[in-house]
Order: sequence, then structure tokens, then C-alpha cells
Amino acid sequence: MMKDFDYQVVVVGSGAGGAMAAYTLAKAGHKVLMLEAGRDYDPKTETPMFKTNGQAPLMGAGNVDKDFGFYDATVDGGWTVPNEPYTTGKDSDFLWWRARMLGGRTNHWGRYSLRFSEHDFKGKSRDGLGADWPFEYQELAPWYDKTEALVGICGTNTGLDDMPDSAEGVLQPPPKPRVPELLVAAAAKKLGIPAVPMHRAVLTRPKDDRQACFYATPCGHGCSIGAAFQTTTSLIPMALATGNLKIITDAMVRKVDVDSKGKVNGLTYVDKKTSQDIKIPAKVVILAASACESARLLLNSKSEHHPNGLANSSMQVGRNIMDSTGTGLGAHIPALEGRPIYNEDGHTANHLFIPWWGHKSQTKGELDFPRGYHFELGTGFRAPGAGVSGDLQGYGKSLKEQAKKHYGAGVYLALRGEMLPNEHCYMEIDEAVRDKWGIPVAKFHWKWSEHELKQVEHGLKTAKAILETMGATFTEPLPSAEQAILKGGQIIHEVGSTRMGESPKESVTNQYGQTWDCDNVFVMDAGVFASNPHKNCTLTIMTLAMRNATWLAEQLTNGEL
Ligand SMILES: Cc1cc2nc3c(=O)[nH]c(=O)nc-3n(C[C@H](O)[C@H](O)[C@H](O)COP(=O)(O)OP(=O)(O)OC[C@H]3O[C@@H](n4cnc5c(N)ncnc54)[C@H](O)[C@@H]3O)c2cc1C
Ligand code: SF4
Repeated sequence: MMKDFDYQVVVVGSGAGGAMAAYTLAKAGHKVLMLEAGRDYDPKTETPMFKTNGQAPLMGAGNVDKDFGFYDATVDGGWTVPNEPYTTGKDSDFLWWRARMLGGRTNHWGRYSLRFSEHDFKGKSRDGLGADWPFEYQELAPWYDKTEALVGICGTNTGLDDMPDSAEGVLQPPPKPRVPELLVAAAAKKLGIPAVPMHRAVLTRPKDDRQACFYATPCGHGCSIGAAFQTTTSLIPMALATGNLKIITDAMVRKVDVDSKGKVNGLTYVDKKTSQDIKIPAKVVILAASACESARLLLNSKSEHHPNGLANSSMQVGRNIMDSTGTGLGAHIPALEGRPIYNEDGHTANHLFIPWWGHKSQTKGELDFPRGYHFELGTGFRAPGAGVSGDLQGYGKSLKEQAKKHYGAGVYLALRGEMLPNEHCYMEIDEAVRDKWGIPVAKFHWKWSEHELKQVEHGLKTAKAILETMGATFTEPLPSAEQAILKGGQIIHEVGSTRMGESPKESVTNQYGQTWDCDNVFVMDAGVFASNPHKNCTLTIMTLAMRNATWLAEQLTNGEL
């Protein structure tokens, strides 16, 4: 233990899962030590919130260090992390977004926060594909309410079968729809498709010491006023305020250690500032390093008692990886040309979106793919950056006039859909390649199946129909699904690498994220997902972490662990 801090639990990672687990345990009175591989980060002083693209080189365009733009909040990380490579198998395309900073990817995420529904937890019971979760939606519903209330989610109850209602008073009011979003909604309605307020982890009313959104700055830069949820302005300071949390940053965990009987008793991490290995004891370990980092850690923690890696007697660690499917279609809408320019920033992301509307058609066997998708809408006048003139021709005054006329007249429908697990999508350890600290790296294998390709084909046709109803014309045929589908990992919703289930034979953890093989090791990130519904995963990561850390806190209080 540390000299002045007798911790009961070590949490690895400070993103959505780790921070929620640490906060829940600290609030319940248990002492927690958090190890974070990234550097310390203070959004209050470091967020480039008020910087505009015009102040940045190349009008703020992304580059190798800053993939999502010059002022992006991710200070260390992105599609590549210097000195921390990963590899891919033959014919496999996989992209892995990592953030190495306190708060992980929550400093930057899109904050879309949709609940999974009863359909989502029991997909296999309906269509025989993938795996069911080891509980029903009703089990998680009260925890979604608690998480939404704590995190601060804006949106409305819609009564749609794809969007379970929150308890009364939980959601904060959504912002008003933008004009182009209302046009999308009207066109979709003609086709029998709903468009409703997106649920987003953005405050539209003040909460705790966080302020409400003032609808003016891009959330991807980070949000120093705490309106857009990130663990560094909410869960982490709240947990620190209990006096029960200590954080060590620049601590890259190398492996989980076991005693001579194979019982987990500590961790070894690399102090990145000195490059020294440090061994610490641990009674209980929570891995929340992100789905594929936690799986990598387990696989790298081989020992005599755990020859295939820790908690891997099922051989399922690293298997069943799913991302969301992604594609999109955009068009120029003549009806939106030349409208008076006013501030349409809103809370950055879409205020309306299109949830999945096809459950009934699927039940009747009318669709040739099994699971749903949604559309996120890209519309409106946004702070101009590189590419504001699109592919317009000309130069000088006439180009400026054309750009002004076309500005805000583009509408983009981004598809995000459910993927099913398949035997070709998994990760393992590449023993031939090591990172800067000598830790063997992850190697990814990937192949989309017919299910995802048919879903994408349907999505492209539907998007085209909506845009045409809005007045768009298409001169080119739609791309094939194979051409249009984005790469594995590209939607940054990778889940399933340590999935939960009913039995130790086919899953890595029980329903509380407790590994079947080691009762003092828990996984509290998206690794435990049994399926990957089309809804963005992070609200469910946090909800599960809150529920499961509450269960763990009870076990600790009762002396059962
Ligand atoms: C651009 C972007 C947009 C996104 N938009 C959305 C969205 O709209 N909605 C949504 O639901 N999700 C979205 N996501 C995904 C979301 O960010 C992640 O699902 C979420 O942050 C995962 O939480 P986590 O705690 O599992 O991992 P992370 O947030 O990645 O945190 C893991 C932490 O663990 C640390 N770590 C890793 N390995 C080790 C180690 N060996 N030792 C110590 N520490 C370690 C990392 O440094 C990191 O800080 C988006 C992500 C990105 C990048
Ligand atoms: S738009 Fe709102 S939520 Fe987003 S960064 Fe600005 S103030 Fe924060």
C-alpha cells in the first residue's frame, strides 16, 4: 500500500469507465488508487475553447498530430500514438483511436448518449445471432436514470420503441432544432421515418459547479465550463473531493501480477517519466483502460497459472470485437441556398437525429439484414474551416459569392449501425512488436460480414431517398456497400473484447464485470459488451460502471472480497 493512503481498489484508466467506477467507489467510502498512462490534463486552463479555425495554420485542418483539427482537445493521442504502435493481420484494415491524457477520450468524444433498449439486450433470442446480455433492459433502466442525472443528458422522451424513456425529470431540455434539421424531419416524415431530438451529454441547464452550454464553441476543442461532459470536469474532481481517490498519471500498466497460487495481488506499471518499472500491491483491480487496452493487458499478463493470459480460460479475451458500422451520404439542398446567415452553432452536434425505425419490418421479415442503424445529421452554418468552398470552381470575388450562397446548404446523413460479432474480427498479441516500454502490442484482424454490408446498402438507399425528398439531385450512382463502409474501428466504438455472459465457458466476466477466473479482477469498460447496438456506447459504459462498482462496493463493505 502507499504510505499515507491505504487503498482497497486500483483502477486502470481515467476515461468514461474508470472515472465512473472510481467516483462510485470513492463516494461509497472506499479508497481508490487510479493509474493513468496519459499525462495530467486540466481543461480549465488548457482547453482552446475560444480559438477559431482562422487563428490556426491551414485554417485548422487536421494533421498527423491532430487528426480532428488543430485545436482538438486530445493533447496526446489520435489514430496514432507516438512510440505505441499496433499491427493488423493480412487483409485486415483496423483503426484504433487512443487518447493518452487524464480523462482519456472523454475530453473529445461526440457526447451522443442513447440508451440501449430491450431489443438491444436480447438480440440473439430474437434472431439467433451474436450473444444476449446476461440481464434484461429493466435491470439497467434505473441505473441509466442515475447515470443520466449525474452526467447531465439533454434530450426528450419520444415513446419510440428504439428509445426507452428516462424517468421523469432526468433529462435536461434539448436545444431547438436548426432550420435544415426541420427540413430533414419533414422529408423523413413523408417516408414514414421519425426524426427526434438527439440525446447528448451536454448541459442545457447549470448543474453542480458546471455551467450550461452557451451554444458558441466547438465541443471537440473540449469544454472548460463543464457543459459538455468530460470526466476531467466532473467525475474526477468530484471523486477527488471525497478524499478517497489518488491518481498517478504517466503510469502505463505493463501487467497484472499474481502470487504463487495464481491469485491477483498487484500490478506493475512503467513510470513514463523515469522509464522505471514500479510494482504495487492490489486487493482488487478494475481494468478500464478501454476495451482493447484492457484485453491487451489481460493477454500480456500470462503466468504459470494463467498460460493464455489472465482471465482467459474461455479463450474469449480479444475475441468478439465489434465497432459500429459507418457510412454516410451528403447532398446540396437548393432550398437552403442563400438564406440569411445567422448563428446556427447550437451545441455543435446535431440537435435532431433519426433513430432506428425498422424493428417491426424486421420482425415481419421484410428486411434482409438483422439489426438497426441511426442517422446523425450534419447540417447548418458552422464556423468555417479549411474546405469551406468545397469543390466549387473559380477564384476571387465570384468564388466568394458562390461559397456564401452554398454555405449552410449541405446536408449530410451519417449512418451508425449495429455490427454482429464474427470469427474474423478479433485481436491478439503481436509478440514480434513492442512499444517504447517493451510491452507487446495488439494485433487486429477484421472483416465485415454480409449483415453489415446489407445494412449499409439499405442505409445508403434510405439516405438518398430522404435527400431527394428534400430536393437534392444525384448524378452519380450510389457506391457499393463494400466501397462505402468505413474501416473497422473508424467509428471509435470498439467493444466486446472481454464480453460478459452467463457462463465461464463462453464469456470472460459475469454480469458485474467480475472475471470468472479471478474474483478480484473486474473489467469496467466496453470490453464487457455482449453486443454493440447501433447506439453510441459510452452512456452504457458509464451506466454499467456505476452499477457494477456499486455492487463491488457492497461486496467490499460486506467483507466478501
Ligand atoms: C472523436 C471521438 C468521438 C466519439 N464520439 C462518441 C459519441 O458521440 N458517443 C459515444 O458514446 N462515444 C463516442 N466516442 C467513444 C468514447 O470516447 C469512448 O467509448 C469512451 O471514451 C471509452 O471510455 P473508456 O473509459 O473505455 O476508455 P477511454 O476514454 O479511452 O479511457 C481509457 C484510459 O485508459 C488509459 N490507459 C490505456 N491503457 C493503459 C494502461 N496500460 N495503463 C494505464 N492507463 C491506460 C488511457 O490513457 C485512457 O486515458 C468517441 C470517441 C472519439 C475519439
Ligand atoms: S458548445 Fe456548449 S457544450 Fe460545446 S464546448 Fe461550447 S459551451 Fe461547451
